[in-house]
Amino acid sequence: MFVPYILPPVHVTRTVRSVCPARAGVAGLCAAHTCVRAEHCPSTWVLLVDIAGPCISSSSWEFVRKSHEMLLIEEKYKSIAKLLLSSGTCPRCVLRFCCVGSSAPYRLPYKNLADELQKFLSNDGDIAPPSKKVRLGDSEECRSETEITRDTDVNEAPQTCNLCLGILQHLCSTEFVKQIFHKVQSAGYEFQDFVFSVSLPPQLLVREHSAWLQAQEEMRRQDRLLEKADIIQLKEAYKWIIHPMISEELGVQAVSKSLFEVGVVFCHQDTDEDCHFLVTVCKDCFKPTKNKQSVFTRMAVVKALDKITDDDFVTHFPWPPSTPKTTCQVIDIQCNHASVFVAGRYNKYSRTLPQTPWVIDGERKMESSVEELITEQLMTVFQADSFNFSSSGREDVDVRTLGRGRPFAIELVNPHRVRVTEQVMKDLQQKINGTDKIKVRDLQIVTREALAHMKEGEEEKTKCYSALIWTEKTIRKEDVEFLNDIKELKILQKTPLRVLHRRPLASRPRIIHTMKSEYMDEHHFRLYLKTQAGTYIKEFAHGDFGRTVPNIGSMMKTTADILELDVESVDVDWPPALED
Ligand SMILES: [Zn+2]
Repeated sequence: MFVPYILPPVHVTRTVRSVCPARAGVAGLCAAHTCVRAEHCPSTWVLLVDIAGPCISSSSWEFVRKSHEMLLIEEKYKSIAKLLLSSGTCPRCVLRFCCVGSSAPYRLPYKNLADELQKFLSNDGDIAPPSKKVRLGDSEECRSETEITRDTDVNEAPQTCNLCLGILQHLCSTEFVKQIFHKVQSAGYEFQDFVFSVSLPPQLLVREHSAWLQAQEEMRRQDRLLEKADIIQLKEAYKWIIHPMISEELGVQAVSKSLFEVGVVFCHQDTDEDCHFLVTVCKDCFKPTKNKQSVFTRMAVVKALDKITDDDFVTHFPWPPSTPKTTCQVIDIQCNHASVFVAGRYNKYSRTLPQTPWVIDGERKMESSVEELITEQLMTVFQADSFNFSSSGREDVDVRTLGRGRPFAIELVNPHRVRVTEQVMKDLQQKINGTDKIKVRDLQIVTREALAHMKEGEEEKTKCYSALIWTEKTIRKEDVEFLNDIKELKILQKTPLRVLHRRPLASRPRIIHTMKSEYMDEHHFRLYLKTQAGTYIKEFAHGDFGRTVPNIGSMMKTTADILELDVESVDVDWPPALED
């Protein structure tokens, strides 16, 4: 009868020539076990039993040799482990400084890990099968690792760790994970996986540096090197422990790249001053910046630690670091979803509707805007925090946009709802179109990258307009016919007076590709124009006090003005047209 055990990773001591023991059908191992060749001895297989993975039977216990191999600590790091443990460092931080790069030992219940570490240090040779620890009765089923952690992972650590300030002790508890879960749940996001981020107080870097110098010293005595990069980072170890726990609560995977981010921000006021001595050594690193509350940013501390000599450091920050009275505080659990982008084309039928809210000195000049009419509905559906509106050019408040409309895109920042079907988009479009001021078509979700198409070749593209022109002198039909024959007319436009307050003064050449006139009466005619994008049509009509040359007025030897202007088409093939 097999009695299932759940084990931390173990070395398989049996030599299995060249076949993976799991595949070779070694008793107690199933093909799901992960076996890798040992680096130092290719004929030895190392069995890595993930404690969340398949069970290992009692007969495979014979493969397990010494207890310390459970921790995967190499013998050479023993002195580091001793040193740290005796100076107030937690077992998980000991694993980090002993360069244990496998996640499973960190996930061991805290008490078990502490016991194993003691055993390893006291060199007590062989161990008994772990029957008492994790015997699961007759069930062949494994319990999840988080369940196991829960059983014994009460805060039995006598004191807060002087390196992680309690993060690897108390802040990977079931209670804390529940706290994260409730925060995420109440925020009400739609997501299918998540990336977990941690913001650590900068003084942890000082404490780590202190421990690293000591560990390095220990290794030097053995004529060995210990690089800072060899040490497992606190963040990494923390994620190894907490990822599976949060995953289980949320019911989705923790991944390294996700649109949804759950972030935890830690601080530890009691030890805030740990960093302060670095100013005396590296003043330049700690210059006040506008946005930061404190000059002691992580970046600045890293820089300063890079500069400071070992002697200077030890003088100012003697080993061992003080044992803190309190654990790190959680100042924030943040959720954020990556932006969603929605694009489409709009028509504007009103001559009293600006494209974006028109506010001068805090006072609203027009009731609404194209931007507001569109985004109001989008914000409701996507439940975003804010938005950014952009478009392929813009029209004046009194200019209509007809034809197939003008491409636009809206970035919805931190949306809570993201699973939006085509049908919802269609309904949304219909809702937006419930006004006679604007009409939207081709409303769709696009990628951030696709937005570039909208701005692509904005200058080179052509635009078509229809203008109602007034002339001072009386005209006959023949007086406007010559315009039809003008092709590729080069004009020079100084920045119009009406936009000088927001655009730099410049002189730009523009091209009027074609014109077509339609006589109306003695003082009016309609002019259809196809021009280079970026041409100021109003100024081309009246001349802007000679700032646009030539212009309709100068060509017709009279004073001309523009009464109405419509954009007939914006020649940008994006976003793709959708079926109605
Ligand atoms: Zn620790």
